[in-house]
Formats: sequence, structure tokens, C-alpha cells
Amino acid sequence: MLKERYEAVVCEVRLAAEAADRPAESVTLIAVGKTHPAEAIQEVYDLGHRDFGENKVQELTEKYECLPKDIRWHFIGHLQRNKVKYLMGKTALIHSLDSVKLARKIESESLKKDVHTDVLIQVNICDEEQKFGVSIAALPALLQFCESCERLHVQGLMLIPPFDLSNTELERVFNEFYALSLDIKRQKLDNINMNVLSFGMSGDFPEAIRHHSTMVRVGTGIFGERDYNN
Ligand SMILES: *Cc1c(COP(=O)(O)O)cnc(C)c1O
Repeated sequence: MLKERYEAVVCEVRLAAEAADRPAESVTLIAVGKTHPAEAIQEVYDLGHRDFGENKVQELTEKYECLPKDIRWHFIGHLQRNKVKYLMGKTALIHSLDSVKLARKIESESLKKDVHTDVLIQVNICDEEQKFGVSIAALPALLQFCESCERLHVQGLMLIPPFDLSNTELERVFNEFYALSLDIKRQKLDNINMNVLSFGMSGDFPEAIRHHSTMVRVGTGIFGERDYNN
């Protein structure tokens, strides 16, 4: 079951990329294994997959300990400052930088552990509806702070759209998000790359790929429904 679902998603990612005239390698599929046991992740790993996502620090570090060390771990959940230290040196990418305070913490903990930490800025383009992500108003100050960092490196942006959007509204949000990344790129800021755009989940990743996503985060589509009672 897991193998068939995984292979179907890989195939859909490739088809969506081709349909958008993009090379399949321009899109990284992140298999989001949250709530699923390490054995399920190992199974997908054995099929050759290496990029995995988790949204809880403790779950990521537990899985990190017992799974192969060449896994590229993506932290995609809200990150509390007091937990930053547990992630240092373990993640390929933290997708959820959303404040100067958090950036300062990641910078100082990276220095302490003598590592470099790649991050994405999670933006909240639909201000009123979401708790997490930096608002468009607060974004310039965050970018400015990141320009001065030596250990934290911004590689792009991450988006979680509100859940209840119509297809038209979702497309508008995707377009705004892409336009925002182009706008930041044009500013040629120090230490700020816009190579990675992380958006698209099980329900909308083909559309996201049509709208220039370079990283899609797929949980249910690969691992099946989540059971939060475990
Ligand atoms: C859980 C999660 C996903 C995956 O969601 P699915 O709908 O199961 O594909 C993607 N991104 C984030 C931030 C998540 O927390």
C-alpha cells in the first residue's frame, strides 16, 4: 500500500512538473511522516527516498536517532525558541522561520553548536486567518536581520494557505506568494536566497507545482490518514 501510494505521488509530481515545462528535478518531494512510526519512514527510505518532514521537535529528534543518518530532515511545524537547540545540526532545512526573535535564537544556537542552519521564511499572506508565519508588514525587518546573520541562511519562502479557499482564491494566493519571492529576489539582499519555494500539500501539490513550487510537502497522500490518538 505504502509503496503504491508513494510511487503514485512521485509520478504525479513528475507529470505536474512536465506539464509546467519544468524538469522533474526542480521539485523536491518531502514525505511528511508526522504521527506515523519510524518503520513507515524506513519503508519509504528503502524505496530510495531521502527527504522527510516532521512538525514536532520531539518527534523529529526521536526519529533522527533511530533512522539512517543520510535522511534530509525538514522541520515544517511551528518552532518555539526554547526547542531550537534540539534541532541544531539535524535539519537540512527549517521551513518555519517567522520572527526576528526566532532568527536570533537560531543564529546563536548555530554558533554554539558550530553549525550552519538553512531556513525558509514562513509568510502569512492572508494576514487575518492564520496564527503562524510572518506578516507582510513585519517581513522587511526580518529580512534585514537575516542579512546580518553568519550562521542562519535564508534559502527561500514557505507557505501554508488557509484551508477553506476556493480554487480561484488558492490560485490568487499562490500567485501573490510567487510575486513576493520575485520581489525579494530583485532586492539582491545579502544572505537571502529565493531558490526554494515550499508550498503544496496532498490536496494541492499539482497546482502548487504549476505555480512554481520547488518543494511539496506530502503526508496523507503517501502515508495515508493520520491517527492523532497514538
Ligand atoms: C502535515 C503537514 C503537511 C502535509 O499535509 P498533508 O495534507 O497530509 O499532505 C504539509 N505541511 C505542513 C506544514 C504540515 O504540517
